[in-house]
Amino acid sequence: MIDLDDVSGCPLDSSCICCRGTAKQGLRVCTVGSPVGVFCVTMCSACIESDELPNFAVVSAVRAVLEHCSHLGIDADQMAAAQMTAAMRQERGWPTPLRGACDD
Ligand SMILES: [Zn+2]
Ligand SMILES: [Zn+2]
Repeated sequence: MIDLDDVSGCPLDSSCICCRGTAKQGLRVCTVGSPVGVFCVTMCSACIESDELPNFAVVSAVRAVLEHCSHLGIDADQMAAAQMTAAMRQERGWPTPLRGACDD
């Protein structure tokens, strides 16, 4: 079973994707579910707490999903299959719009 929310292989960005803040201690990699797949973003604790979610154009979300696939060591087909499984289990609520999940 592939865990799409595994961010152990994801690089932490130097700034928050929402507010561009660079509060180093508060920055964390989170996963976001989108209609095109799950991808990872770096967010600060303030934005995480306020449920702020990044606004992605579809094309950049697709790219972000593919990048997250490479972090997980899977391909886009495996991502789609894992998403389907998760959706069937109603764990993810896909294909609803963006949802954030954070690893504490
Ligand atoms: Zn922020
Ligand atoms: Zn990633």
